[in-house]
Amino acid sequence: MSHNLSEDTSLPISCPSCGYPISLRYCSRCGEERLRPELRSVFYLLKQFLEDITSVDGKIGSTLQLMLLKPGQFELNFYQGRRVDFLRPITFFLLINVLFVFLSPITDFYVTFVDQLTLQPYSGWIKEWTLNKIAAMGATPNEFKVHYDQLVKVLARSLIILQVPIFAVFSYFICYRKSYYFADHLIFSLNLHAWLLIWIVAAQVPEWVILTFADLFGFRESVAGIYFLLLPIGLIAYMAAALRRFWRFNWWSVAIRVVALMFAFQVAHSIFRLTQFFLTFYMVQMPEMNI
Ligand SMILES: [Zn+2]
Repeated sequence: MSHNLSEDTSLPISCPSCGYPISLRYCSRCGEERLRPELRSVFYLLKQFLEDITSVDGKIGSTLQLMLLKPGQFELNFYQGRRVDFLRPITFFLLINVLFVFLSPITDFYVTFVDQLTLQPYSGWIKEWTLNKIAAMGATPNEFKVHYDQLVKVLARSLIILQVPIFAVFSYFICYRKSYYFADHLIFSLNLHAWLLIWIVAAQVPEWVILTFADLFGFRESVAGIYFLLLPIGLIAYMAAALRRFWRFNWWSVAIRVVALMFAFQVAHSIFRLTQFFLTFYMVQMPEMNI
């Protein structure tokens, strides 16, 4: 018979998880609950499961609400140490990223083989190198293209996180403030990208409203591409609000920095596309290759 199972909480025991003495119901060092017979019941297992789900659920809700209603507040809370009621920024980002993989209406995060070699700012620089490499494999560009495009579709959406630290480096210089660490810029970048993934899906609502309205009054052609105008507007709105609320810049300063950040976003996105190209390039397995 183990005295650990005793219901008598007046007997001190040592914590099974960390070895610290427990004199009451919970370990004061690691939070472990003292083992009692009812902690081994099916009812208790179910109850804990429900508690875990609703606590994550509640945190998703409060994090999402904060991000949507007060951009920059999530960063500020984290910075000031108010963290327990919210998901960690990285967890929140990955969760949104997983949802995005299933829900995204656009394909902007992956770039096809032909577009990589023709439309990107760095296309001229990589084209010859790529074609030589493919020739050395004994494949034709057309054969390679088929395999590349299949793989990049799957890969690109899970690689989005690569863009986050790149943008954070730019943000560190553009929004430099003495009392903020690089990690604060990384969190800003994580949240901005999480917001962008949400907005890419959510912007279909205002798009639908505008298009419906345009249909009624017969000016559909002039607003056909409205979705691709809504995307940068959403990005700018989040940046401006976060710069004001989290970084506490005045409005003039916000305006100048938003312009610089939008430019930095484009550069970060190009670097992301180039990285995506090389990663996919080296991961393509040509079936007829026998080396
Ligand atoms: Zn303990």
